[in-house]
Amino acid sequence: FVFGVGTPNTKTKDKIPCSPQAKVYKNDMTTMILDGRALAKELREELRQHVQQFVAQVDTPPALTVVRVHGDPSSERYLRTIQKSCDDLGMAFCAKLLHNNATQEMLEYTVRSVSADDTVDAVLLHLPLPPGFDARAAINQLDPHKDVDGVHPQNAGLLSQERPRFVPNTPAGGMELLKRNGIELYGKRITVIGRSNVVGKPMALLLMQEDATVTICHRATADLASAVRGAEIVITAAGAPGLITADMVSPGVTIIDFGINVLEDGSVVGDVDFAGVMPLAAAITPVPGGTGPVTNVMLLRNVLWAAQLRRA
Ligand code: ADP
Repeated sequence: FVFGVGTPNTKTKDKIPCSPQAKVYKNDMTTMILDGRALAKELREELRQHVQQFVAQVDTPPALTVVRVHGDPSSERYLRTIQKSCDDLGMAFCAKLLHNNATQEMLEYTVRSVSADDTVDAVLLHLPLPPGFDARAAINQLDPHKDVDGVHPQNAGLLSQERPRFVPNTPAGGMELLKRNGIELYGKRITVIGRSNVVGKPMALLLMQEDATVTICHRATADLASAVRGAEIVITAAGAPGLITADMVSPGVTIIDFGINVLEDGSVVGDVDFAGVMPLAAAITPVPGGTGPVTNVMLLRNVLWAAQLRRA
């Protein structure tokens, strides 16, 4: 996944594929673009084989049910992406859709009943819920052995005690991007921006488990720039476009950008000013095409794992 950036080395010029950015930012640094689409493809093929082995053993495919309260169109797109991936990998997919005038009670009943359904291996409660719903109470109704998003307190607790059952998909994908690109974590100073239960917090735990020294920043952090400048690896999950700029980072930094921000013109950007920061970085995820595609495969990996836990 290494793209040559900057002044091409004449000897290897023909062998190194140049990213489009290479034409714009000419300097002597080589930035590794952490290509999430390529990694997702590789991981999906590995998973396909494991699913086939599982089906050969137990006859029925791993089965995922998504519970979703009618919401914005982007969440609908996400649902279709999951369905397509399940079809592609030979997993069973079902969606339980609730109208947005459904009550909290109906939502909890639905989560409870799909959790209790013996034909369902994995349950995903689509988050965030529309305003007015109590996500915590709904999450409590999930069977923790089917909670493939890792949002149930039991799974969050297991992760924090270094014996994870289901790791939340987004940080699990971030870890794959780091590890499969050979990025050393041991003893590294890593700054994580964002402390949500599904991204920032579990990511920080996973990095700590790899012996990194982790700093967690959030909305109330007084001096974000110095926390970013002091880090060898920066992980952002803030949902704030343009939050990280070139003046904040140390040269040679590695950046994982979980931000998916849709701008007014419809374009999608991360939390990092990619054009400004990329020439300074040793490695960086693009948005789109970085963390996003890998997240999806991690969900499907957890679905297989849920099925294995119950049936293999
Ligand atoms: P996600 O689900 O992607 O983690 P959330 O909206 O749940 O997103 O959480 C965003 C996190 O990012 C919060 O922990 C918040 O404190 C942090 N955050 C948002 N904006 C900023 C900012 N400008 N500076 C630092 N942290 C921020």
